[in-house]
Amino acid sequence: MIATSEIRRSDRQLYLFNKLVDCVVALLQAKGKMNPFDKYRVVDFFQRIEFQRRGSPHAHILLWFDCDNREPVSEPNTIQLVTDLCAVSRDDLPGDQYNNQIHRHTFTCTKRGETCRFNIPYWPISETCVLLPMSKDDIRRSGFHLMAANLCEIIEEKHYDTLNEFYIDNGLTETKYLDKIRSTLRWPALMFKRDFTEIYTNTSNRWIGQTLGSNTDLQFILGEYSCAAYVVEYVNK
Ligand SMILES: [Zn+2]
Repeated sequence: MIATSEIRRSDRQLYLFNKLVDCVVALLQAKGKMNPFDKYRVVDFFQRIEFQRRGSPHAHILLWFDCDNREPVSEPNTIQLVTDLCAVSRDDLPGDQYNNQIHRHTFTCTKRGETCRFNIPYWPISETCVLLPMSKDDIRRSGFHLMAANLCEIIEEKHYDTLNEFYIDNGLTETKYLDKIRSTLRWPALMFKRDFTEIYTNTSNRWIGQTLGSNTDLQFILGEYSCAAYVVEYVNK
């Protein structure tokens, strides 16, 4: 049984959280200097608020920008957009905000399988880029997929100071390493520049994180299918 005062408190929390999220989205739709994303203005959005088990509200928001680069996803304007809006490095995020961004595995990570369903740790990468999936006809694909799973375990268990150290220890070159990752992909995937201290760090936007004072996980959807899948998943939840 929940006491009336608790219901009122959770109602107030939800009301304030809803208001806060509405304000954030309204500012992202504003024109000119009011817009914290500057030239990357939001023209449409889809929003859904959910509750975690302990009752904390969190928002899933799909933002649609007015700056379609109309270029293949790996071209420079797309990379510029994501590097302008996203932060992964501790240097780009104030102390408390960075700590909010670190993923810690819980039971929910593995409730659908043996590995973290959020695909964390993230791959350490030397430069932000878009990786394209390896062709299904490529005979290396299944072997590389197994090697990628092994590399993921190594990344989780061992610490390396540099990517070069990691390559040498595992007989890799950058091309060989990226090919192993490509063998695991079904769609083009954005890879953020990360070192080994950032493989558990969710991508954040500095302004949103500071405004909401909470963990944020910013992802870029690079294709129509992924966009539809995201909306359907959260509409049906
Ligand atoms: Zn996890």
